[in-house]
Amino acid sequence: MALLQISEPGQSTAPHQHRLAVGIDLGTTNSLVATVRSGLADTLPDATGRHLLPSVVRYRDGADVIVGEAALAAAADDPLNTIASVKRLMGRGVDDVKTLGGVLPYDFAPGDGGMPRICTAAGLVSPVEVSAEILRTLKQRAEAALGGELSGAVITVPAYFDDSQRQATKDAGRLAGLTVLRLLNEPTAAAVAYGLDKKAEGVFAIYDLGGGTFDISILRLNRGVFEVLATAGDSALGGDDMDYAIAGWMLGQAGVDVATDLRAARRALRDARTAKHVLSESAEAAVQVVRADGTVWEGRLGCEQFAAIVDPIIERTVAPCKRALRDAGISASDIAEVVLVGGSTRMPRVRHRAELVFGRTPLADIDPDRVVAIGAAIQADILAGNKASDEMLLLDVIPLSLGIEIMGGMVEKVIVRNSTIPIAKAQDFTTFKDGQTAMAIHVVQGERELVSDCRSLARFELRGIPPMVAGAGRIRVTFQVDADGLLGVSAQEQTSGVESSVVVKPSYGLSDDEIERMLRDSIAYAQEDSVARDLREQQTEADRVLAAVENAVAADGATLLSAPEREEIDRALARLRSLRANANAAQIRDGIAVLDQATAEFAARRMNVGISKALSGHRLDEFS
Ligand code: AMP
Repeated sequence: MALLQISEPGQSTAPHQHRLAVGIDLGTTNSLVATVRSGLADTLPDATGRHLLPSVVRYRDGADVIVGEAALAAAADDPLNTIASVKRLMGRGVDDVKTLGGVLPYDFAPGDGGMPRICTAAGLVSPVEVSAEILRTLKQRAEAALGGELSGAVITVPAYFDDSQRQATKDAGRLAGLTVLRLLNEPTAAAVAYGLDKKAEGVFAIYDLGGGTFDISILRLNRGVFEVLATAGDSALGGDDMDYAIAGWMLGQAGVDVATDLRAARRALRDARTAKHVLSESAEAAVQVVRADGTVWEGRLGCEQFAAIVDPIIERTVAPCKRALRDAGISASDIAEVVLVGGSTRMPRVRHRAELVFGRTPLADIDPDRVVAIGAAIQADILAGNKASDEMLLLDVIPLSLGIEIMGGMVEKVIVRNSTIPIAKAQDFTTFKDGQTAMAIHVVQGERELVSDCRSLARFELRGIPPMVAGAGRIRVTFQVDADGLLGVSAQEQTSGVESSVVVKPSYGLSDDEIERMLRDSIAYAQEDSVARDLREQQTEADRVLAAVENAVAADGATLLSAPEREEIDRALARLRSLRANANAAQIRDGIAVLDQATAEFAARRMNVGISKALSGHRLDEFS
């Protein structure tokens, strides 16, 4: 008789079995898959020995989808069906696509307000579906190389990806048939690769310039614990921009009008990238442009001209570096090491600029293209249960504060920016009106004091609050940001326990430019904001006082007030109403004080009446 193996729920029946887990770097230009084998993390090649998979997908009518090198090769001939740099569209809305339109020359279907869809020979495809094709190819590659089914994957995302971009990446993973163990910030993954390999300690800067994004992160590594002190970046800056700038120069030299000769422009773009790579090794590169009429322009791109074209683009990495240092509260001299990540950091000019900013020669001993995938593989190995999880703790931060709208259109921050995640924070709020049974919760993101200056993330309602007098309800609002940076908000009325919640998946992404602008504005408008906040607070208080006095006068004015008293209160009410509409915070405060004074005696009388009503029919000793 065969023995039955019995295990507790949640426990593995084969505890010593090595689970196949991979780390995936889903890049704008190239993607990679890595795994840990025999304690060593490395990227996995395809059948032809290539590690980098170009993040390019080609759709054909009635035929299989092509991913990678073969798709890239067809890009010039079949541009509209060959999708590259799709990462830039992840989690973005139809409107964002319009601004990216110049960079991503595909045909987009008129959107229905949500996800953009690209028109291809195989029909409409969403960015999530395109990314899923890339992930599926990497999954197949890994399963072929490892000889089994994957138990899970860690997928990396730029540190600045917002909720919707992270969610879109997760969705793509699921669509590809992967169990997404976790999303991991790319710079954190790079730190994992270096930290575990070298057992390093100190404060590090991770400078990541890829094909389409730039990320700078300040991390503190201490005995295997990685804490992200600050992040900054630009999700629309990278080697692609250099390719466009070089191609623009080439086409200008050749006298080609991009609008009329798209084919020449596309070929120039490819050649520009090749020239850029050559210039990482040599002092000059041969370039050519094939015009529509078949004639050819041939030229040379030398060091000086190259510098003039690419330096302004490289220079754009400097401001985010300085901001990250400032946010982390440190100076460049505190940085122990600079880690280079991303294909574009192979460029000597980029390395030199990073060195100038931080005053240190950057580390580049792990291949800058593979370091993120390697770190993700190490993390996947731990999450799959192949290694003790207490060996490593990873902390990331949220880039912008999260809060809710309170009365008067003001923002109450619940989680402040640069808080490490995962994080959960609760704050209590109260009801504003007597008998209020519902509360609208508006979740916002940003640094400013007024809701109108922040970004709206979600709205939901808490219903079924038991009717109480204003200020008596206790509504606890809890914000929870999980390890992937996704936000869940719940609201619960404390006496009745009624609850309502929302998971935030905003349909529109937030570019780094917007994040930068929001941060800059929060500093520039700090003074103005505090004046505006004071005014809104006084207006809200005036509304509350006006409503309370009007109710009281309607209820008891006839019985408890003499005619002159009533007149005085009416005058004070009218004055406050007019101040509420036209005056500044100090004047409204004064109006509230005058009304308070005019109603003090009336309030005392009402209280007495209330007490005698409550006492009538009772003996005094019942209350003692
Ligand atoms: P990634 O997004 O990290 O895959 O980076 C891809 C970018 O790195 C592309 O813009 C490439 O053109 C660029 N790149 C790769 N190798 C080199 C090189 N040797 N010299 C200059 N740029 C490179």
